[in-house]
Amino acid sequence: MIEMDCTCVQKHHSIPTEVIEVSDHAIEKVGDILNGYRRIFMVADENTYGVAGRRVEEILTEKGILSHTLVLPAPALPNAENIGKVLLEAGRDRAVYDINAWSLNPDYILAVGSGSLNDTCRMVSYRLGIPYGVVGTAPSMDGYASVVAPLLNGRRKIVYNCTIARHIIIDLSVNAAAPYPLLLSGVGDMIGKYVAILDWEISRDRNGEYYCGQIADMVLRATDQCVAAAVNLKDRDASAIRAASEGLILSGECIAFCGSSRPASGTEHMIGQTWEVMDVEEGKAPNLHGIEVGEGTFTAIELFRRLYLETKDEPMKALIGKYLPAFDRIEQLQQTLQIPFTVTEKRRYVEGILRGRTFRDRYTVLQYLYDLGKLEEYAEAVYEPVMQKYCFSTFPEQFPDWKK
Ligand SMILES: [Zn+2]
Ligand SMILES: [Zn+2]
Repeated sequence: MIEMDCTCVQKHHSIPTEVIEVSDHAIEKVGDILNGYRRIFMVADENTYGVAGRRVEEILTEKGILSHTLVLPAPALPNAENIGKVLLEAGRDRAVYDINAWSLNPDYILAVGSGSLNDTCRMVSYRLGIPYGVVGTAPSMDGYASVVAPLLNGRRKIVYNCTIARHIIIDLSVNAAAPYPLLLSGVGDMIGKYVAILDWEISRDRNGEYYCGQIADMVLRATDQCVAAAVNLKDRDASAIRAASEGLILSGECIAFCGSSRPASGTEHMIGQTWEVMDVEEGKAPNLHGIEVGEGTFTAIELFRRLYLETKDEPMKALIGKYLPAFDRIEQLQQTLQIPFTVTEKRRYVEGILRGRTFRDRYTVLQYLYDLGKLEEYAEAVYEPVMQKYCFSTFPEQFPDWKK
C-alpha cells in the first residue's frame, strides 16, 4: 500500500500497489519481490520475452515459484482474442497430476511488457480474482499503475475497470533499449499533462469539480522533469530514460491516488483516443497511444493559444496564461524530437476534435468552446498551424517497423 496525506477534501490518498521498483537491473530483484507467491503465471510476447521475459523466467524457475509461461505472438494487442488466450492458458493442466500443485490456478499473473500486455493481464487478473504485477519493458505510456484497461473488442475500444498492479518493476537498462517509437510514445503521453491539469483547473472553476492541488503539483513536477530530460532521449541518455520512466510511473500513481484519470487526461487524450478509435472502427490496428496523445496535445495547445488571444473571459485568460510557458517548452521539445504525426488528413483531423468532446464525460476546453458555439470554427482553424509547426514526418515512413 502506498499512502499520502493531503490537503484536499479527500485528506488521504492510497493505492494498493506494494512495490514500485525503478532501477538499473531491477529484473534481478523479481524473485525476491515476488517471494510470497508460489505459482506465478508469466505472460509475455515474442519481443518482450526476448528482452526481459527469458531472464525473469530463469529467476522465477530457480526460486521454484514459476507455474508456467505464455508467449503471445508479437505485437500482442489488448484484444478479445489475446485476453481469451491468457484466460485459457492461466490454469495449468499439468497441475491435475502434479502432487506439489494444489490448485489448477496460478496465484499471481506477471505481465512482461508495456501497455498492451499490462492491460491484457490486468483484465485477466480482475476476472480470475488473483493479483498481478508487471515487469515493464518500455517507458511508452503512464498506465503501469492505472486501474482501467482500454481493450479492443472487434471494432470497438472500451475502457474497463480492472485491478491495480501489486508490483511494478522497471529495469532501466531494459527501458533504455526499447524501440525508439515507444520512447517517443512515452514522451507524447507525458507532455499532455499540462493540458490535462489546465482542463482540470477550468472544470474546478466553472463546474466546482473536485480538484486536488497536491496531486496536480506532483503531475506537473513529473512532467517538467520529463520534458527537461526528454531532449536527450535520442541518444538514449541514462538520466533521460530514468526521468521519463519515473515521470510516467508517478503520473500513473497520481491517477490511482485520485481515483480517476482526471490529473493525467484531458482534451489531448480525448482527441488522441478518438483518432485511435477511428482506426479501430475501420478495422485497423490503432497507433501507439502516446503518439496519438502527442498529436492531441499539440492540437490542444493551438486551441488554447487561439482562445487566449480572442477571449474576453478574464479568468479563463488568466488560467491559460499560466500554462503558456509550458506550451512553449513543449513546442521546442517537438523541434528536437520530432514526434511523428499520424493524422494529417484535414477531414479526419477535424472529426477527431469534434467527436473528442464527448469521448468521455469530462468537462474540458472542448465543451467550453462548444457551449460558445465555436468548436467547429476552432477545429478548422487550428489544422493549418498545427501541421506547419508540429508535423515534421508521418509515422510509417520514419519508422517502417514501428508496430513491432
Ligand atoms: Zn488530495
Ligand atoms: Zn495516456
